[in-house]
Amino acid sequence: MSAPRRLLARMRHLMAHGTAPLAELTQLVAAELVTEVCSIYVLRPGDLLELAATEGLRPEAVGRTKLRVGEGIIGLVAATGQPLNLPDAQNHPAFAYRPETGEEKYASLLAVPVRRAGRTLGVLGVQNRQPRRYDADEVDVLETVAMLLAEKLAPAGSAERAEEGLAATVARRFGGSVIVPGIAIGPVVRHGLHAPPARLLADDPAQELARLATAAEAMQRGLDELISARLPDGEAPREVLAAYRLVAADAGWIRRVEDAIRGGLTAEAAVHRVGGELRDRMRRVADPYLRERLADIEDMVGRLLRALDGSTPQPEVPEGAILLARRLGPAELLDWHARGIAGLVIEDGSAAGHAAVLARALGLPALGGARGVLEAAESGEPAVLDADEALFVLRPEQEVLSAYEREREARCARQARFAELRHRPATTADGTAITLMLNVGLPLELAHLEATGAAGIGLFRTEIAMLARGAVADVAEQAAVYGRVLDAAGARPVLFRTLDLGGDKLLPGSAVPEEENPAMGWRSLRVALDRPAVLRKQARALLLAADGRPLSVMFPMVATVAEFAAARAILLAEAERVRPAPQRLRIGTMLEVPALLWQLDELLKQVEFISVGTNDLLQFVFAADRGTPALAARYDVLAPGMVTLLDRLARHAEAAGVPLSICGEAAGRPLEAMTFAALGITSLSMAAGALPPVKEALAALDLAAFRPVLAAIRRSDAAAASLREPIATWAREHGIPV
Ligand code: PEP
Ligand code: MG
Repeated sequence: MSAPRRLLARMRHLMAHGTAPLAELTQLVAAELVTEVCSIYVLRPGDLLELAATEGLRPEAVGRTKLRVGEGIIGLVAATGQPLNLPDAQNHPAFAYRPETGEEKYASLLAVPVRRAGRTLGVLGVQNRQPRRYDADEVDVLETVAMLLAEKLAPAGSAERAEEGLAATVARRFGGSVIVPGIAIGPVVRHGLHAPPARLLADDPAQELARLATAAEAMQRGLDELISARLPDGEAPREVLAAYRLVAADAGWIRRVEDAIRGGLTAEAAVHRVGGELRDRMRRVADPYLRERLADIEDMVGRLLRALDGSTPQPEVPEGAILLARRLGPAELLDWHARGIAGLVIEDGSAAGHAAVLARALGLPALGGARGVLEAAESGEPAVLDADEALFVLRPEQEVLSAYEREREARCARQARFAELRHRPATTADGTAITLMLNVGLPLELAHLEATGAAGIGLFRTEIAMLARGAVADVAEQAAVYGRVLDAAGARPVLFRTLDLGGDKLLPGSAVPEEENPAMGWRSLRVALDRPAVLRKQARALLLAADGRPLSVMFPMVATVAEFAAARAILLAEAERVRPAPQRLRIGTMLEVPALLWQLDELLKQVEFISVGTNDLLQFVFAADRGTPALAARYDVLAPGMVTLLDRLARHAEAAGVPLSICGEAAGRPLEAMTFAALGITSLSMAAGALPPVKEALAALDLAAFRPVLAAIRRSDAAAASLREPIATWAREHGIPV
């Protein structure tokens, strides 16, 4: 029997026969791997790694030597979750000398994390006097031992772990970037981490190999079905193929699973281990495209485990749960949402990813970039997500929990008050009617029309449903979606925006070249005009959906009047063909690119309406990326320059008789809404959650009184970074809830 197999067999024997002390395991590993030292460090509360057993270091160090996570080589392995293989450990920059261990004699060190369910429980290390690099087989065996050890350190469930003193009970706080504001209180559920296999070691490798082959085949079939369902034309898009290639080309990961099985593991344990390695490797890749594929790999491992498992049904999601995910695809988010989650925390997520776009559309409080949450949390633990303050609190203290529960009740009460506002017309206190509309991206948001009493849909982002689906739908499917939107809106107007893909909104199938500056790159209408087939299909779908009803369409990211004219020509050409023709076809533009402002006279002759996308306009006016957290608060839509810009735009549009609205996020904030109203922009489109507070603030606003105040503030603060403070002060003094 090979040394590794003998080691695993003996470990199994030891573990099967009661509670072998950790010391016995260290002796066994040192003997079988021919190392002079083997040590086990166990993570204790307070993020301390305590030397729990050793063969070779001084016995008196056991229980005494402690390293913080991140301290020394052992601490570094625990912090990064990565093994370290060092021929000359003492000259490694992280080395922390602990004289009580007597380890100065040993030059080489191999340390691997002991992890279970994505969580570090300790570190296992071996050392030798001779400077040497441990070979791949030795690393492999030590990692397998660590996996078995993890079972010993955390037998099952948190209750037993609590008894052992290993379960974390203290509150932990995580920051991040706000994706969708709001609060959620509930137990956490974890996405993408698969429960460790119940059985780790197998007697009959041949049988395990056969199970693996069957499961791999079933998984492959499932994936093929998924892909052919998503890609009706059968042409596998580049990125899906690339994801396949990447996984398949990973030195044959199925072959590595097979090797692990031959080493004595069950098929599940082997998939689990190789999948974990693959994930760890991908996590170190900086390229954002490859990192996006992490979700695919996690998905693939999950599918293979499920295929091995038969079909265990998806576990129930507790009421109001907060989902923790490393990464998350849009379809998975929809799935979780349907299962009842109330909040979302993503480790890698930026405010711009697909899951972010969807979370926003769903109004699901969400935090991105919260590193380390999965590692720290156990499913079912209580938590508070305060996405207003970019904070996630795991295992909150009772007082904190109560404070948030009170806040949640207050919000519910406010919600009830807002519900009453639904039937009131949107007017200022002195009687100016304001048109408040909704930004919508998914059919399931249509219910908000009734719930908020909105006047219509001021922005229907057609690309959101495609992102959720993972591909551009064909004409019939698109027409069905747009038809549902028009049905739900009834007599209320809907402004459809044509596909705004690219930049931060990428479909898995889109062949987008690498770009330094995707927000200013080949995106949106630029792609549509260069590859007009997609726009033509979409135009046809919109016209079919209208089925004779009025139809309003606008284009995103228009930078020149010529682009607008070209896009309109495509739409009009389709309109010639589709019957019945819409009762009235209105064609307008988004105003997001500043260049259009210098072609206003010409533009106003050609468009039937303009909707200002302040999100993009702001980023291009100030040359400040909208997704960069460090810039988030730097430039203000209420800066004197922006207010002047909007003022002039409003006057020109009014003179030309062209309706003007604002549909960027700014329209959904009370202070901005009252400022826009004072500039004469009285049509505002926003997320459903933003509408009631805006309506309430406007109802308290004496617009006639505010206009000269705004003019005075603009004069006196013309050189300020923003007019926000003086406007807010006036609003508060006049009892306006902003
Ligand atoms: C905008 O840019 O303001 C806008 C409404 O479009 P999106 O946020 O979809 O880019
Ligand atoms: Mg935009």
